Amino acid sequence: MYRGRFAPSPTGPLHAGSLVAALASWLDARTHGGQWLVRIEDVDGPRCPPGTDAVILGQLAALGLVPDEPPTWQSRRGELYQAALDRLIAAGQAYGCACTRAEIAAAMGPRAKHGELIYPGTCRPERGGTRGRPARAWRFRVAGHIDWQDRQLGAQSQDLDAEVGDFVLKRADGLWAYQLAVVVDDAEQGITDVVRGEDLADNTPRQIALQRALGLPMPRYLHTPLVLAADGHKLSKQNGAAAIDLADPPARQREAAERLGLPAPAAHLGLADTLAAAQQAWAARYGPAR
Ligand code: GLU
Repeated sequence: MYRGRFAPSPTGPLHAGSLVAALASWLDARTHGGQWLVRIEDVDGPRCPPGTDAVILGQLAALGLVPDEPPTWQSRRGELYQAALDRLIAAGQAYGCACTRAEIAAAMGPRAKHGELIYPGTCRPERGGTRGRPARAWRFRVAGHIDWQDRQLGAQSQDLDAEVGDFVLKRADGLWAYQLAVVVDDAEQGITDVVRGEDLADNTPRQIALQRALGLPMPRYLHTPLVLAADGHKLSKQNGAAAIDLADPPARQREAAERLGLPAPAAHLGLADTLAAAQQAWAARYGPAR
């Protein structure tokens, strides 16, 4: 049974870019006769203003996207993430790290990717561990490269050692890292298909590595093209993407469908028919082979 999800981080209301990811995941679930879930990814509590989750759920409902099960909140699922971390530690696939950001930066010099430092493995157990210092964070031990097939992007490959390094599972401030939470939740919720924005594509190999280490099934992946702001940058809350104007929901879904590269549903259609037209177009492109 197909099970898909939309997993917004409630750092702000939905904007045109996040609506595209929501619509794509919904269209794919409907196209496959599956279920569509919503998971509120509020692990990074300090960045999530109270009430934003309810705003997002209200926006989705107004836009005709209603989940088939009650939503879940990552902030309530810490025990599951801790159990997964404990298993990884017991298996020697995660380890405590005492390094500060400044120490990592000093060891690495300017080498960084997406502003993230590639950890040089200083606290790996075989290199002496934390040398008696208390662990600040917990890291996953990466090895080798990951090849995977994306339904939109095709064959993908990433060298985890060279491009990512041992990444954080639980942060020094005690917060869970997105990578671990998303993998545990997708498996625990029986998600078969992940449909999300292309900005997350290069996280996928980390998630596949975690799935393998935890013995979890790997979902299929489809990464949708990014929606760019007028200045050519990724549309995001940071560069001021406006919350969606809900005065005309069919118009918003028509625009989202066009941003997915689908033929625009006719302008006179109501919300349900707009979504049905978008779904027919999606099915023609991504539907099960007939
Ligand atoms: N919470 C993530 C975000 O809003 C998306 C996670 C996912 O779809 O895997 O960027």
